[in-house]
Amino acid sequence: MVLAQQKTVKSGFDVDSVRRDFPALRLEPYGKPLVYLDSAASAQKPEVMIKAEARCYRESYANVHRGVHYLSAKATVAYEEARRKVAGFLGAADPNEIVFVRGTTEAINLVASSYGRRHVGEGDEVLVTTMEHHSNIVPWQLLCEEKGAKLKVAPIDDRGDVILEEMEALLSERTKLVATVHVSNALGTVNPVERIVELAHARGIPVLLDGAQAAPHMPLAVAALGCDFYTMSGHKAFGPSGIGALYGRKELLDAMPPYQGGGEMIRTVTFEKSEFAPSPAKFEAGTPNIVGAIALGATVDYLEALGMHRVEAYERELLAYGTEALESVSGLRLIGTARHKASVLSFVLDGVHPHDIGTILDREGVAIRTGHHCAQPVMDRYGVPATARASLALYNTRSDIDRLVEALGKVREVFG
Ligand code: PMP
Repeated sequence: MVLAQQKTVKSGFDVDSVRRDFPALRLEPYGKPLVYLDSAASAQKPEVMIKAEARCYRESYANVHRGVHYLSAKATVAYEEARRKVAGFLGAADPNEIVFVRGTTEAINLVASSYGRRHVGEGDEVLVTTMEHHSNIVPWQLLCEEKGAKLKVAPIDDRGDVILEEMEALLSERTKLVATVHVSNALGTVNPVERIVELAHARGIPVLLDGAQAAPHMPLAVAALGCDFYTMSGHKAFGPSGIGALYGRKELLDAMPPYQGGGEMIRTVTFEKSEFAPSPAKFEAGTPNIVGAIALGATVDYLEALGMHRVEAYERELLAYGTEALESVSGLRLIGTARHKASVLSFVLDGVHPHDIGTILDREGVAIRTGHHCAQPVMDRYGVPATARASLALYNTRSDIDRLVEALGKVREVFG
C-alpha cells in the first residue's frame, strides 16, 4: 500500500480515491479483501454509473424518439446527449458517427453484415491478425463463406507483435477490409494502429479497429487516427453491460444498408417499399438500450474527469511493476511480451493447469481469468491450451499485484 501511495504522487493519479468510487472493491470474498484482476473480461462499476441508471429509471424513463410527452422528450434528450458524450470520448468529429449497439461483438457483426455484404465478393479477402478475439474472426468467416471470399491472417512474432512487413505483404487489390484489434485481450499487445491504417489506406482499403480493450485504458482519437470503424464495449469501460458503440465514418455509414429492420430505423413504410432513416438511426432498429446508453454517458463523464492520459500513465507504471513481479515467480512464463502493452498479464506456470491456478487464487480473494480468452488461435500460436490472465484497470494497485504474487506462492505450495 505504501508503494501504491508513492506511485499516486508520481503519476498525479489518486488511486485510493478512485477505489472509493467502486463499491464492489469493498467486497471480501471468503473473508479476504477482493483483488479484482479480471477487468479485461468485464470491469467493476463506479457509483456514478450505478446512480445514473437508477436516476434514469426513477426520473426520466420512457421510450425514446417517438413520444411527444414530457418523459419521452427527457429520455430522448438524455439518450442523444449520451451519443454526444461517447463521440467525444472516442474522439469522433460528429455524434451521428456513433451507433449504439450491444457491444463490440454486435458492432463487428453489423459491419460484416452491412458493409461486408455489400463490398466483399467472390475471390475478395478480409485481413485480420493472429491475435484477434473470436468476435473479430467468426463474423468475417461467416461473411467469407457466404461470399466465396478468403480470410487472411497476418502473423505475430514470439513476443506477440504483429509482423508488419508480413501484414503489408498480405494487402492486395483483393483486400476489401482490414479488421484488427487495437489492444489484444489475450496478450496485452497494443497494435501500431496508426501504421496499420496508413498501410491500408495507401491502398484504399478501409480499416476496422476492435477497441474493446483499448477504450478502458487510453485516450482515443478515432477521427485523428483516420480509421473507418472503431468498436467499444461499455461493460469493459466501467459502464453497463448490454451497451456499446460502433464508430463509423459518416460517408461509410450513410452509404451502408441497414443491419436489422424494424421500428425506429425507417422514414416511411408501405407494403411496397420502406425508406430508411439517416444513420445512426438506420442502424438502431427497435427500442434501444435507453438506460444503458445514458449510464454509459455518465461513465464516460467520470472517465473524462479522471483524465484518460492520467489513467494510461498510471496503468503503464502498474503494468511494469506487475511484469517485473511476475517474472520473479519461479516457473512462470509470460505469454505476450510485446514492446507496447496495456493492462494484460497472461501467463502459464510450469506443471500447473491454469484452471487450478484460478481456483486456488480465488480462495485467496484474487479474481483472475483462465482459459483461451476467446482467442484460440493465440493459444495455438504459443502451443498452450489456456493461460491464466491477470488484467489491470485504473482501480488496481501495487498491493493487488503483491497479493497476486503471494497467492501464486500458495499455488506452488500445493503443486510443489
Ligand atoms: N474484442 C476483444 C479484444 C475483447 O476482449 C472482447 C471481450 N472479451 C470482445 C471483442 C467482445 O466484446 P463483447 O463481449 O463486449 O461484445
